[in-house]
Amino acid sequence: MGELSSPAKVKEILSRYHFRTKKTLGQNFLIDGNIIEKIVQTAGVSDNDMVVEIGPGIGVLTSTLAQKAQRVLAVEIDKKLQPILEETLAPYDNVDVVFADAMETNFDRLVYNKSSGRFGAGADSYKLVANLPYYITTPLIMHMLTNKFNLNTLVIMVQKEVGMRMAASPGSKDYGALTVAVQYYTDAEIAFKVPKTVFYPRPEVDSVVVKLRTRRTPPVQVKDENLLFQVVRAAFGKRRKTLLNALAGSGIDLNKKQWTDLLKGLEIDPKRRGETLSMKEFASIANELYNTITA
Ligand code: SAM
Repeated sequence: MGELSSPAKVKEILSRYHFRTKKTLGQNFLIDGNIIEKIVQTAGVSDNDMVVEIGPGIGVLTSTLAQKAQRVLAVEIDKKLQPILEETLAPYDNVDVVFADAMETNFDRLVYNKSSGRFGAGADSYKLVANLPYYITTPLIMHMLTNKFNLNTLVIMVQKEVGMRMAASPGSKDYGALTVAVQYYTDAEIAFKVPKTVFYPRPEVDSVVVKLRTRRTPPVQVKDENLLFQVVRAAFGKRRKTLLNALAGSGIDLNKKQWTDLLKGLEIDPKRRGETLSMKEFASIANELYNTITA
């Protein structure tokens, strides 16, 4: 394992297979065994665990996961990595690599099929451990969460700014639509910071590893989740606007007077900015909006 993740070994493999990393696919491979160990430790992977990885690359994280987990299922979009993964993962008989776009993947179905029904689809839950491709980090996280796959823990490497947004508190500069969405589905914490030097090639941004534990029940009760996220997107859509102006200009079918009455009825000052609202306040607006439009 240690050897596979050393800078020299990664470069040797890439050059032997004439593989050129693609920026468009976010191919920044890990070259530091300590960081890989730390990621796997943060996820608390043990031999009972089914682990899903998005983007195995040349398999450095995958092989460490394979040593600790019961099974690993890795989904990689780039078929050109296949011969490399066949070599690096040859020692492990508990790894499946599927070449597909993770954004198009139903992970519950895939896990269920690959593990003869022991995991997924209502049975035991599984973990996601991944060094995510940065060009689609947010859509990938939303894909994993909004589809309510049977995940219990996500330990993911993301660019620092995205990690800060996921774990932010109301009123802070990082608090936004992503914060509310991630914290609605999970309990989010930044596990540790990661310097650019542990990747080849080096990315332009700093990174963090984030740990998300999925919630059994959401922190707030809403009548319609889509409506909650519509309100949240509207409130953060125009950061300089007051909450009232942001909501009134959002395309949700209520006029300014109706929005004013709705907010005042909830004792929320219409002049506040969206970024000061707590999840509870967003939920109360979404529920009142639901009552208004279904009345
Ligand atoms: N896990 C490896 C590591 O840590 O060295 C590689 C991580 S690299 C940051 C991201 C990986 O995700 C690349 O292998 C890339 O080809 C793959 N990838 C990019 N877009 C993807 C997608 N939509 N679905 C699945 N894999 C994707």
